[in-house]
Amino acid sequence: MDWATMRRALVEQLKARGITNRAVLHAIGRVPRHWFVPRSLRQYAYEDRALPIGYGQTISQPYTVARMLEALAPEPGLRVLEVGLGSGYLTALLLAMNCRVWAIERIYGLFRRAQKVLRHLGLCQPATCHLVWGDGWWGLPAFAPYDRIVVSASVRQVPPAYLLQLRYGGRLVIPFEKYDWLAGRYQLLRITRMGPSHYRTEDLGPFVFVPLRPGTEPH
Ligand code: SAH
Repeated sequence: MDWATMRRALVEQLKARGITNRAVLHAIGRVPRHWFVPRSLRQYAYEDRALPIGYGQTISQPYTVARMLEALAPEPGLRVLEVGLGSGYLTALLLAMNCRVWAIERIYGLFRRAQKVLRHLGLCQPATCHLVWGDGWWGLPAFAPYDRIVVSASVRQVPPAYLLQLRYGGRLVIPFEKYDWLAGRYQLLRITRMGPSHYRTEDLGPFVFVPLRPGTEPH
């Protein structure tokens, strides 16, 4: 089976699991996920599962990514902040959906690799794609406000910076760790900024994520 056929099969699987947003499905059907996983794992790139990408991190499961994107509802031209660039796969989907993306990653090796792949695929153009190596806990205030903020690593407390850097009417999608001892029971939250200090929170159900960590790692 060639990559395109495998990608189509993945899209069908996601549809069967309840993903309906056409723009999201279209992007997943176009972006070559096998470029974003280690070479030795390429044959698994279109299975619906998370895969290791080195440095103890993972590329998120396609179903999780699809649910996050559906909740985010990205639209062409919107300004999106992404915390936890990782492999760059979610960034690629946002760019394929014609968003303007600012993506930040704390691990230098992952940042460099994602940058290379996104440039190689022609997705990272100077006008729409801004990749930053740094600690995403503080968001990126210099380019705020954002229409959308998406966080790929889980938090025990929603960083106030994200709430403040959201435009009124804007949405934040973030995995939230509840204080319970059941591993992997993170709730994906969607927080909508209704006004200067008025936010609405919705619970999108349990998913598995790696944790958001402070600081940066140069090696
Ligand atoms: N969207 C990515 C998910 C990668 S996993 C993908 O599909 O590949 C989450 C990423 O968040 C990891 O790469 C991890 O290094 C990064 N991360 C964790 N804490 C961070 C922080 N404080 N600032 C920026 N990135 C962070």
